[in-house]
Amino acid sequence: MTTSVSDRQATPETAGSGELRLDDVSLTLGDGDAAVTALDHVDLSVAPGEFVAVVGPSGSGKSSLLAVAGGLQRPTSGTVRVAGAELTGLSDKQRTAARRHHVGFVFQQSNLLASLTVLEQLLLPLHIDGRLDTAARTRAAELIDAVGLTHRTASRPHQLSGGERQRAGLARALMTSPAVLLVDEPTSALDRVRSAEAVRLIAEQTHERGTATVMVTHETAIMDAADRVHEMVDGRLS
Ligand code: ADP
Ligand code: MG
Repeated sequence: MTTSVSDRQATPETAGSGELRLDDVSLTLGDGDAAVTALDHVDLSVAPGEFVAVVGPSGSGKSSLLAVAGGLQRPTSGTVRVAGAELTGLSDKQRTAARRHHVGFVFQQSNLLASLTVLEQLLLPLHIDGRLDTAARTRAAELIDAVGLTHRTASRPHQLSGGERQRAGLARALMTSPAVLLVDEPTSALDRVRSAEAVRLIAEQTHERGTATVMVTHETAIMDAADRVHEMVDGRLS
């Protein structure tokens, strides 16, 4: 289940400055009377190989933080750097490209496609891009092994447990060797033991592959595996 391969190492440009860096980021959603301050002057820096957990109640801005950090959403103000690129200065097209190259997302629901096997879930994006070669297949097999799903390679989502689906989602997110890994409430569908296992696996993969990882959750019981824990309240990070 382990690998000695380190996919990514700190480069001189990014070492020390953080592979993921948010400076004075605010996000307002909606307008007029309905306007909500989802993020309120957030600063966050995450180094390669660092596993940061953000814990906060529902509605505190955790998913907004990941959307902005991963370039899914432009902040109202502030800057976001991913793997040395300043996302807020890019066009939508450039930002999408940066996200696809440098960011891996794992969502609460694993968002696996019902008709595809575990292996096919990992290969689909490369297939669409016309880049499905032997190296990609080798990498997919290695990742499936790394998350302990070798025996499930040919299984479809309905044949998997909740924990296995979450692990397949993690393997899929790692296919592009992302600099930044963003994980939203990975354990909400899992029991306590499976939750602890899932978080340990994310920690292990973060350290082995050198991703700058942010996991957000409202569950405080599963924070032990994190290198650093922040609290989020009403869009403010402390
Ligand atoms: P969390 O993930 O911690 O539950 P969110 O980031 O989803 O928090 O939401 C933060 C705040 O922003 C909440 O008050 C939520 O109601 C609000 N919000 C989220 N999405 C939207 C939206 N599209 N339009 C307006 N308000 C939103
Ligand atoms: Mg959320």
